[in-house]
Amino acid sequence: MTGQTPTRTRDIARLYLDFDSFFATAEQHFNPALRDRPVGVVPLDSPNTTCIAISREAKARGLKGMASIADARKLIPEMQFVVARHDVYVRLHDRIIEVIESCLPIAQVRSIDEVVCELKPSEAAEGLALGERIKAALQAAFGDVLTCSIGMAPTELLAKIAAEDSKPDGLALLNGQDLPGKLYHLKLQKLPGISDGIEGRLTAAGVADFAGLWRLAPKQARAIWGNVEGERFWNGLHGYHSERPATQKRMFGHSRILLKDWQTSEKIAVCTRQLCLSAARRVRRAELKATKLTLSMKGGGYRGRRGATGEVLKWSHEVAFPPACDDKCFLDALNAALTAARGSVSFRAQSVGVVLHGLQDPLTVTGDLFDLPHAAQPERDKRAERQKWERVSVMLDNLRARLGPEAITLGPQTEIPGGYLGAKIVFGRIPDRADFNQAPVADDDTHFCSF
Ligand SMILES: [Mg+2]
Repeated sequence: MTGQTPTRTRDIARLYLDFDSFFATAEQHFNPALRDRPVGVVPLDSPNTTCIAISREAKARGLKGMASIADARKLIPEMQFVVARHDVYVRLHDRIIEVIESCLPIAQVRSIDEVVCELKPSEAAEGLALGERIKAALQAAFGDVLTCSIGMAPTELLAKIAAEDSKPDGLALLNGQDLPGKLYHLKLQKLPGISDGIEGRLTAAGVADFAGLWRLAPKQARAIWGNVEGERFWNGLHGYHSERPATQKRMFGHSRILLKDWQTSEKIAVCTRQLCLSAARRVRRAELKATKLTLSMKGGGYRGRRGATGEVLKWSHEVAFPPACDDKCFLDALNAALTAARGSVSFRAQSVGVVLHGLQDPLTVTGDLFDLPHAAQPERDKRAERQKWERVSVMLDNLRARLGPEAITLGPQTEIPGGYLGAKIVFGRIPDRADFNQAPVADDDTHFCSF
């Protein structure tokens, strides 16, 4: 491993959420004519290609995920094929992330349709009710077509296995005490992390089923995989977190690519405000206070006809304030930064970011001037005002967690189009930003194959 000793847990500590046949259900979600029908999503409008996703109706007819169009047609002659629309899926992904985050912060986005959340003991104690709450929020936002499966377990690997095993539209909780008995029925090739190649090596090593896999020692797993991934897999399976220990969080930030019609200063204000509120919720959840806000903008970098790239233009501005965790303080700081931007940004911003940093743990921070008993009345008023806004912010967080992201917010709320720039986003098959700069495809503009 990477040096540190993994810690073992038998408690529920991770929630894994994975959408069912995401690209196919996304198409069915946007186009009612495709619902309840076998649908294949293909990368391009050609009869000689392979599906990147098939709907559950096609799976129910026995078709496998990556079938060629020819094979799919042989099995299901009436199957509908549509061409993947990546920008539409990425926009949907962004909306999904916002809904999930209103219930529970996401630790990592694993792909366009998979996320993992780290659970605090109080969240884990909710058990299946937590998963049901997330599902209800998603259903309220997106309806019945776009379903997901959720697994809750001691480790990410086990949570992912539980989610996978409960598909479609599943919800499963796998306790440490249930291991390994509850997993004996799983086929090795169905487990995440076991490719065809690894399965072959397991077979060669005499491992034919889950019981055999479970009996392996960590060193044997490492030898079979041929690298540290084997040991990592073993750890995850046996309830050990083998991620690097979380480094002290130093900032909470969000950024967005701006679509063309969102590159005005009014729209940038609307967009950054929401990025700010989202980062603020993360600060509060971590029970920290921030002392600085940085607003940044990026532009330029246009690609010329011969592939030459223009200079990337950057601007950023930092605003400092006394330790705070309330929306009011952060929004005031953001407004100051936006005012500075209006006076000094000379390029068209194509992306914006808001970062809250200078984090302090209130438990280790000694009282500031305002907390002194002999502080003058105006300072006491300021402190009381700050504490009031902190209570308001916490109350709003709680309401949103219970009632959904649209339930309530400080000031106006607008849906923002455009893609995430978050470093943690793994787009998987989703192409890079060059695609987002083309005219966006409307959600309901299904691209049917022409053959
Ligand atoms: Mg999926």
